[in-house]
Amino acid sequence: MPELPEVETARRGLSPHLQGRRVTTVTLRRPDLRWPIPPEISAVLPGQPITGLRRRAKYLLLDTAPGSALLHLGMSGSLRVLPAATPPTLHDHVDIALDSGKVLRFNDPRRFGCLLWQPAGEQHELLAGLGPEPLDDDFGGDYLFELSRGRKAPVKAFLMDQSVVVGVGNIYAAESLFRAGIAPTRAAGRVSRERYGALAGAVRYILSHAIQRGGTTLRDFLSPDGAPGYFEQELLVYGREGEPCKVCGRTLKGSRLGQRATAWCAGCQR
Ligand SMILES: [Zn+2]
Repeated sequence: MPELPEVETARRGLSPHLQGRRVTTVTLRRPDLRWPIPPEISAVLPGQPITGLRRRAKYLLLDTAPGSALLHLGMSGSLRVLPAATPPTLHDHVDIALDSGKVLRFNDPRRFGCLLWQPAGEQHELLAGLGPEPLDDDFGGDYLFELSRGRKAPVKAFLMDQSVVVGVGNIYAAESLFRAGIAPTRAAGRVSRERYGALAGAVRYILSHAIQRGGTTLRDFLSPDGAPGYFEQELLVYGREGEPCKVCGRTLKGSRLGQRATAWCAGCQR
């Protein structure tokens, strides 16, 4: 599933091909993805110059004067910029053609992704109630500490709550908690201000690092068979239950926490 770093990598890779270009036509090969594609996408978008491509959480917003196309890659979606004559393959559901002779093509085999419309000056309901971006200045240890007082939920569930902070998926939560030395099962309200400082730093480090690594695969977004890459060989705990801790050698514990697989080291994380 594309996580925040993959979506940010996609945004950075696609942006130069979209910024300032005019949409010529929109081709919908089916009427819906996860939800029906609203009529504005084919009625309003053609003819509009693209003023930018933004990211909020794991959503991409293709901005034009009358509004933004709101895209989510879901479980299996991908976006590529291709020459307009490139024949569509299975699961290529949407083409947004540009005056450059290229198309922005949305492929999504499982169709958990979406393409929606947000009129200018409004906020789509999917974006309402989202917490701060983990790489923005309003996210940090003090913020997490204040917000978590009195909360009994495990700190891992707290960190993955999109109303607390967006884009910290299962992999990044597990790795950040290991780096900060915090057991994922600990109650969110029982983590000190200092340790939340370490956790916020770990989240920033890991996401920035993953975005940087994603930068090396930018060309994939332009090729017909490209797919964003992870950094599996660098994972310290995620998916490593039963294997030795890379720091202290103890066997990593595993359990399910809020229906998500979780691995951690009882030696390094308290
Ligand atoms: Zn350890």
